[in-house]
Amino acid sequence: MYRYLWSKLIPSKVSSFGWRVILDRIPTKQNLIKRKILPSNVASCVWCGLCEETSSHLFFECFYAFKIWMSCLQ
Ligand SMILES: [Zn+2]
Repeated sequence: MYRYLWSKLIPSKVSSFGWRVILDRIPTKQNLIKRKILPSNVASCVWCGLCEETSSHLFFECFYAFKIWMSCLQ
């Protein structure tokens, strides 16, 4: 999988963003709370408000984010 992420066909900014998602280094609410940038009472997803906003939730689990990804692919 990582071999494809760092392919010459993928722009470097996309590769580095994908790498940051894999390492859970993007500024989700969960990560901002861990770094004490946000208070712990604002952890819910900005789209659905049902779950904690984590990298996996934003990119793979949230129904509203999934709809946005699908509209980008059309
Ligand atoms: Zn959500």
